[in-house]
Amino acid sequence: MKTAIYIPRGQDDNTTPSLGPLYLLAVLEKNGFEIRLFDERIDGAALDKLISFKPEILGVSAVTPAFLPGLAAACKIKQLFPGTAVVFGGAHATALPKEVIKEAAVDYVLTGESEYTFLALCKKIRAGEASQSSLSEINNLYFKKEGRAFGSDRTCYLTEAEIDALPYPAFHAMDLEKYFSNTQAHGLFRRGKRILPVMSARGCPSQCTFCQRMMGEKIRARNVGSIISEIRHLAENYGIDEVYFEDDNFTAQKNRALEILEKISSIEPRLYLKFANGIRADLIDGELLKAMKKANVYSISFGIESGSKATLKKMKKNLNLEKARENVALAKSLGFLVGSNCIIGYPHETREDVLESLEFFKSLKLDSMAIVNLIPYPGTEVRKLCEAEGLLTEEAGDWNNYYFSINDPIPLIETEQLSKKQLVELVHKAYRSIYLDPKWIIKSLRHLTLKQIVKGAGTLLFGGERKVN
Ligand code: SF4
Repeated sequence: MKTAIYIPRGQDDNTTPSLGPLYLLAVLEKNGFEIRLFDERIDGAALDKLISFKPEILGVSAVTPAFLPGLAAACKIKQLFPGTAVVFGGAHATALPKEVIKEAAVDYVLTGESEYTFLALCKKIRAGEASQSSLSEINNLYFKKEGRAFGSDRTCYLTEAEIDALPYPAFHAMDLEKYFSNTQAHGLFRRGKRILPVMSARGCPSQCTFCQRMMGEKIRARNVGSIISEIRHLAENYGIDEVYFEDDNFTAQKNRALEILEKISSIEPRLYLKFANGIRADLIDGELLKAMKKANVYSISFGIESGSKATLKKMKKNLNLEKARENVALAKSLGFLVGSNCIIGYPHETREDVLESLEFFKSLKLDSMAIVNLIPYPGTEVRKLCEAEGLLTEEAGDWNNYYFSINDPIPLIETEQLSKKQLVELVHKAYRSIYLDPKWIIKSLRHLTLKQIVKGAGTLLFGGERKVN
């Protein structure tokens, strides 16, 4: 049975391969389905190719800013092939399943981890047994029958044994060469030319109120041998020269992290390794950093999020800023390229909190820094707060606006403490003070291409700034 997953393109320029859909497709293939992935982010002709493929089952995997383009593609498919079963999954559908299932073009919604849910659903469709009573037995599924929506709020997560039983992500189902030639790798820095992700564990016990945490609170770790075999498989079959981990919290289990890094050290030929996310700045130490160095890690991006204690408290980030400062300095002294991200404009954050936060980040002398205004994604605790307190702006009514932009940040919340205009000005001011600093430009010449620097400076100097009142 012909089954495809389509990844729509949103306004952001993220083109990193999505492991979720690739795992789903791998499971289906193992069970006799014909599979393909069509990724609009790397191929502008993806929708036309999807139409030519004529899928009998179509999965659409969309983050919030790509939801509406995904819905438009689903409508097109339904119009051309009314019998195609259209299934939505991913972060947006997981957060708002009851809204998404109401859409006329959507037959099913998968929530959370969906490898076995999608398989169970596809098997029922293939067997012609997708009745209401049989679909009700499947976890993490919403469906429509005769115009009425059904589904349950319970979300189940895979056990470690179930995760270990999964096949490797089906990279062969996508146009990898197109991806390798187009991709901006996750994060600012790259050393390799053929870069793919791996996930060693799922879930995160931290409680950050801005995070969708699709994988749940409990960490479920994969067998270390299988992770290493997967990395070897990527090198042997796809010729990768760099790998990065997509974990939410790689160092949460220190001994396991050390074991993985030690085993990666012995892989020949050597691969570049980086952590573009998934490292808490207070959950790392000298031993881990030395093991990372030995494993050929060259770049680490820490999730610090704010340099203001008051704002961190609002985020429930519970991060020790002094520990973070020490660890950033240690990582820099060991020669890693170190980055972080900073969210500004949190509900009730004051201008003074923001300036304190930016001063903290500036004092770290990071190699890269992403400064973003808050995106109140559906399903997060902070969104509930914004809704309850009426902080969402008119712009927040359009899902297309839920993306990060350096030169054109879209304010999605407004508070008594910070107007939309003030918030946008603060983001611009912060970027200009960091990235147009001649010292930063000279330092960056060592590890960024001149093209990247000129493009970044051009964006900051001449980028189209949004008019806000
Ligand atoms: S540490 Fe990262 S993954 Fe975990 S809740 Fe916070 S932002 Fe989300």
